[in-house]
Amino acid sequence: MSSEEVTLEAIGIASADMQIFMTALETGIGNQDRQICLCGHQMSRHERSDSVVYCSVSRAWCDCAHPIPVLEPDQVNPFRFATTGFGKKHALAKGIYALHRKGLKARWLIDVQCFKCKASDQAIYPAPLSKSNRVSNSSGYRNVFLCMPCIEEIGVVYFY
Ligand SMILES: [Zn+2]
Ligand SMILES: [Zn+2]
Ligand SMILES: [Zn+2]
Repeated sequence: MSSEEVTLEAIGIASADMQIFMTALETGIGNQDRQICLCGHQMSRHERSDSVVYCSVSRAWCDCAHPIPVLEPDQVNPFRFATTGFGKKHALAKGIYALHRKGLKARWLIDVQCFKCKASDQAIYPAPLSKSNRVSNSSGYRNVFLCMPCIEEIGVVYFY
């Protein structure tokens, strides 16, 4: 049995290079697949089969069929919640909250404005839309940013 200490150098890798690589893996910086979709999940979680796009996350199913990358977080793990409505109930809000609880940050990839009236001077909420384009209380077929007046105008459909 050899008593030589195990090192990365022995398998051809400089420790410093390994550290940079692992940090990049963790942060996902510059990796489009690790950006977060407006549905609140990783872009790489969106799968396409027979012209149907669906988003699968470990703890919940997501109906997102129109992925839009909206932010790039320090870490992607916190983004695995289910959507049960707009605003606080949306998976994107829950993911950002979980990210901040870990002391981590994210950067927007798009301008946060209402998709309908383009307002950016008031509170803008992530909202799930059903196939008939109504604000829903479950995961969205399409996810959008909306201001409150537009949410009220589009209307909320309740599913129990
Ligand atoms: Zn999703
Ligand atoms: Zn999505
Ligand atoms: Zn609006």
